[in-house]
Amino acid sequence: MHDTWPRLRDSSFPAIRRARLDTLQLNLGYLCNISCIHCHVNAGPRRKELMSRETMETALAFAERQGTRTFDLTGGSPEMNPDFRWLVTQARERGIHVMDRLNPTIIEEPGYEWVAAFLAEHRVEAVASLPCYSAENVDEQRGDGVFESSIRALQRINALGYGREGSGLVLNLVYNPNGAFLPPSQEKLEGDYKRLLGERFGIVFNHLYTITNMPIQRYGSWLVSKGKFDDYMALLRSAYRPENLDGVMCRNLISVDYLGYVYDCDFNQMLKLPIGGNGAGRTHLRELLDATFEDRGIAVAEHCYGCTAGQGSSCGGALQ
Ligand code: SF4
Ligand code: SF4
Repeated sequence: MHDTWPRLRDSSFPAIRRARLDTLQLNLGYLCNISCIHCHVNAGPRRKELMSRETMETALAFAERQGTRTFDLTGGSPEMNPDFRWLVTQARERGIHVMDRLNPTIIEEPGYEWVAAFLAEHRVEAVASLPCYSAENVDEQRGDGVFESSIRALQRINALGYGREGSGLVLNLVYNPNGAFLPPSQEKLEGDYKRLLGERFGIVFNHLYTITNMPIQRYGSWLVSKGKFDDYMALLRSAYRPENLDGVMCRNLISVDYLGYVYDCDFNQMLKLPIGGNGAGRTHLRELLDATFEDRGIAVAEHCYGCTAGQGSSCGGALQ
């Protein structure tokens, strides 16, 4: 795999500082039941890295001390961590809002039949990736049969109330481009998704988040191997909009890797860029239980243009 960091390190991206911390984004490990071409985590069925219960306990202690009200669980497939259910139960007992970034096919994976009912029982917000409403595009990006499996899985969680008005069970979908281009208008695409998924499959959901692909890890390597890396970076830079700086996700969250080390965001985690970027080396969450985050510097580099291009991009979709 091509390492894109040497191409990203020297950067003109402006300095940014943290605002109020409200979310702990926990990467529960790189194990995933599928292996997508755009994956910025390089996750897959053979990865062994998983967050331990001890690190999860540190995250719960951190949330208590810092008053953090949201856990955003990512992976890999977070549900494949053997302590996923323990963590969610503990967090919900403490009144913490939990978001699970799932790839819907996990609901159909043998051994994971419990996922849909468990999420509903604990009123977990489901953020499900579905990079297109067309089978061809999804299977090209994620593998054969993934679209059909995702559709069946979404129908199953809809049947539990997810995405239905008045149920309080939130289902958001995530789109990302299947090529070297920026996402289209989130508002318009959400309308298309709602109409087409509703008409064809009876699927309902709350919101669609459009997310820009980052020029790192497997996707960055794909860009390099296709000779598209420089053009893609030029596209991100040329679409820069400074008004997106206020909304970038690193201002309000910290990202924790499966070992408990902290980063300004998931992308920086994958680039092994420690929080703050002051050259001090990596920091563990347990060292930050009483830390103040507001106004701390953020580690930035060229990939950050992926968050500020066009309508902007964050883990909650477009910024504008
Ligand atoms: S993009 Fe998501 S579903 Fe695909 S391999 Fe990565 S973690 Fe798994
Ligand atoms: S890549 Fe990370 S550090 Fe850079 S702007 Fe986006 S969220 Fe912030």
